[in-house]
Amino acid sequence: MTTYLGCIADDFTGATDLAGLLARSGIQVSLRMGVPTKPPADTAPFEVIALKCRTAPVAEAVAETQAALRWLQAAGAERFFWKYCSTFDSTPEGNIGPVAEALMQTLGTDQTIYCPAFPENGRAIFMGNLFVGRQPLAESPMKDHPLTPMRDSNLMRLLEPQVTRPVGLVDRLTVAEGAEATRAALKALANEGVAHVVVDAVANADLTTIAEACRDMPLMTGGSAVAMPLPALYRASGGLGGDAPSFTPPALPETAVILSGSCSAMTNRQVAAYLATGAPGLRLDPLDLADRGGQPALDWLAQQDLARAPLIYATAEPDAVRAAQDKLGRARAGEIVEETLAACATRARDLGARRIVVAGGETSGAVTQALGVTRLDIGREIAPGVPWTYCTSAGHDLALTLKSGNFGAPGFFTDALEAL
Ligand code: ADP
Repeated sequence: MTTYLGCIADDFTGATDLAGLLARSGIQVSLRMGVPTKPPADTAPFEVIALKCRTAPVAEAVAETQAALRWLQAAGAERFFWKYCSTFDSTPEGNIGPVAEALMQTLGTDQTIYCPAFPENGRAIFMGNLFVGRQPLAESPMKDHPLTPMRDSNLMRLLEPQVTRPVGLVDRLTVAEGAEATRAALKALANEGVAHVVVDAVANADLTTIAEACRDMPLMTGGSAVAMPLPALYRASGGLGGDAPSFTPPALPETAVILSGSCSAMTNRQVAAYLATGAPGLRLDPLDLADRGGQPALDWLAQQDLARAPLIYATAEPDAVRAAQDKLGRARAGEIVEETLAACATRARDLGARRIVVAGGETSGAVTQALGVTRLDIGREIAPGVPWTYCTSAGHDLALTLKSGNFGAPGFFTDALEAL
């Protein structure tokens, strides 16, 4: 069907997060890995294109997002959402502002909003200042991020050097008055030529107000949460008919494999909890992989009963990770693990596994690439921000879930298998 809302996300797990929140509506959501090379066909009411442009050079990020916009327009979308991180990950050069400004220009619109708030996950905006839990952004661990250190908490000040047109604020006092007041405040700012408007939100109800005030804007920008109320609003306004397709996942055999390349604290707990259930597991040691290659892991996999959902993991505690990195180099250690887990994914598919659980953002990228996946249909959520997704790989229907580092509860792997 014709696409109603076209979304562009600046990284892969952010795209999954947004797609999962939109899919809570029950309406079909499809996630594309990169800008599709073919013209739109068989499109969903909500299309999300996952890019990897958060820290790319500005010109590259602008070019990629423009290509994504053109594809979404060809799919029929007239409303667009630019999704970035709820901690506003960017530098004085970009890419949040430059991309938004370029999208606005192409769409011929004079104003957009910036709302990275995600109250359920502790991201709130008050008087234009972003908080992470109870800390201002610039005092949160984000101040030390390796690529996008956030040293100011004020979103207007962060945005100003990134854009050429004026920046303004609709504060929480206005949002608290409701959608009408918010719309009026935006209009007043537009009359003054304010193109880029940060909007305060401290609770879920604020997001509903903002989404209602802005739902007809050609372009909205923000974290995933402000997009969450949109499906219900589009339905209520009659824009999106009651006949909008929902997604029915295919029935798949219960054969599964779990592949974990994340070394986050939470993934370490999840691996331990899964092994404690007595499930079969194989630990990958990067040093051993450097010596003997991944064949032993593939041989082990071939002997497993896939109905028992075997786990292959490189997940390790920080000391072990450091030791491997000291010997092999950080990049090489990561690469051989990713290569091996990706090879395990394709082998598991060929052995008949139809449910694949992957832990780790980079690991997920390596696995989806190896499986040749370009489109995912979003199914039910296992944990906030982590849905089951469905795709085809080498002619087989697969269920795939891609979990980034700290997402999910300790029982995530069991939760995931039980959710199907
Ligand atoms: P997360 O989402 O937790 O950041 P990623 O998959 O994005 O997980 O990143 C983890 C990185 O660490 C990957 O490149 C992975 O290959 C690498 N890695 C996994 N296990 C080990 C290990 N034991 N030693 C060194 N690097 C590892």
